[in-house]
Amino acid sequence: MRVLLSGNEAVARGAYEAGAGIATGYPGTPSSEIIATLVEKYADVVCEWSVNEKVALEVAIGASLKGVRSLVTMKHVGLNVAADPLMTLAFTGVNAGLVIAVADDPGMHSSQNEQDSRHWGKFGFLPILEPSDSQEAKDFVRLGFEISERFEVPLILRLVTRVSHTRTPVWCDEPPSQMPLFSYQKDIRKYVMAPANAIHRHPLAVERFQKLREFSETFSGNIVDSQEMNRRVGILTHGLVYHHVKEVFPDVPVMKIGMYPLPVKKIQDFASSVEELWVVEELDPLIEEEVRSLGISVRRGKGEIPWCGELTPDVLRKAFGLPVEISCLVEEKLPARPPKMCQGCSHIPVFEVLRDMELTVWGDIGCYTLGAFTPYSAMDTCICMGAGAGVEAGFKKAAMRQGEHVRSVGVVGDSTFFHSAMTHVVNAVYNKIPMKLLVLDNHITAMTGHQPNPASRVNAYAQTTPYVDIEKVVRGLGVERVVKVSAYDRERLKAVIEEELIAEGPSVIIVDGVCVIAQPKLNKLWNRGG
Ligand code: SF4
Repeated sequence: MRVLLSGNEAVARGAYEAGAGIATGYPGTPSSEIIATLVEKYADVVCEWSVNEKVALEVAIGASLKGVRSLVTMKHVGLNVAADPLMTLAFTGVNAGLVIAVADDPGMHSSQNEQDSRHWGKFGFLPILEPSDSQEAKDFVRLGFEISERFEVPLILRLVTRVSHTRTPVWCDEPPSQMPLFSYQKDIRKYVMAPANAIHRHPLAVERFQKLREFSETFSGNIVDSQEMNRRVGILTHGLVYHHVKEVFPDVPVMKIGMYPLPVKKIQDFASSVEELWVVEELDPLIEEEVRSLGISVRRGKGEIPWCGELTPDVLRKAFGLPVEISCLVEEKLPARPPKMCQGCSHIPVFEVLRDMELTVWGDIGCYTLGAFTPYSAMDTCICMGAGAGVEAGFKKAAMRQGEHVRSVGVVGDSTFFHSAMTHVVNAVYNKIPMKLLVLDNHITAMTGHQPNPASRVNAYAQTTPYVDIEKVVRGLGVERVVKVSAYDRERLKAVIEEELIAEGPSVIIVDGVCVIAQPKLNKLWNRGG
């Protein structure tokens, strides 16, 4: 059966076809639809929205140890959060296959930064597969599980926005009737990474990386596409960019990298088969630097091609001095349409109050980040999940040292609170920091597409779950000054903030207001119960 699937849908299909049993993840554009598709279509794969990416990976590690193929999903910044277990998992290795689908966002369509997740490969001695379209996205998940099991290593499946969100045809299969068996065997020398054991695992990880490099020479996704072509120039490229290179240079021999570590011999053969080698790479020059370090001459590369943003066909045309297509010129003339909060959004009155109070506001990741822009202009920073609380704590701590009273607050959302702001609340209580934290509880992870979180009272399957009440959590963490206010009661919100700004010790103000877009669905689920 051949169907049109987005890259994310194809990853979900690949997990199903590979017989994966567990999938965990934290929502983040452009990766979020992987878990959503598994939940909707593939009941055999048991899914969860975890509270953060570290939790998601650790749950998957447990499932892999139990002998179940496990998939973890996140966006690129999520892997920074999961890096702690990841880098030690690279030493321990896995039992049943473990694939980490990480979606990068070149061009920052919906991200706070632009990172190239291919760096994790060399950094952690880990294999990376990089699909160029939905067919490869599906196939590479199955191959990824096989490689993960063969080398006992977690494998990263590196996606980018245009693979995740573009629909291309995919041939579908069914899961194998029999799965390889991986029973759990206690092995503390392998899994207990105390120094005496870990010191023996590091050389094994290095040795394994060498074996992965040899395997990469035979990997079917490293493609040389050069039959009967003029051999004056050859282009070495990777992933999605392969298709753009083929569009712009249809008559040039091309080698596409689909696996890291790089297939060095294959690259050397390709380079020696052409007069001049160009390396066309999106984001960082990982391939180019390694190729140059092999003593291979690269005639054109990052000297011409931008380091930042997406390498669309027209960006390539511009970089190589070719005429740009009219579609690009039209696009450039379109007026900008900055994102806006929805009408009736519960964040709007909050940011109007913060603006009118002229407070310094340490922000965070969510729809409310739009509070930084006009007509609110009521946010001073937005760094990463949980940083709204952390920066507020640090600013207050420094102000205390200087004997100053500052009128500042941190702002996080409900999902952000559970993701990584809770630890800052503990830290503020423990270290007696007068952190003033607003938790904008709209009961949903709105910005990434309305995924549920512990404040939603429903799980990934829209089943009602015990309510993890932020007010009770905060009180349980030792905060004495906790106030709950309706987001729409501007006067009370303002009065509460004024009162807490001069109060001693940490305060948490929970600003309650369900996301108006998610509200009808949540109301239905809450009323249904069960
Ligand atoms: S999706 Fe919800 S939280 Fe986001 S801007 Fe719209 S109403 Fe506000």
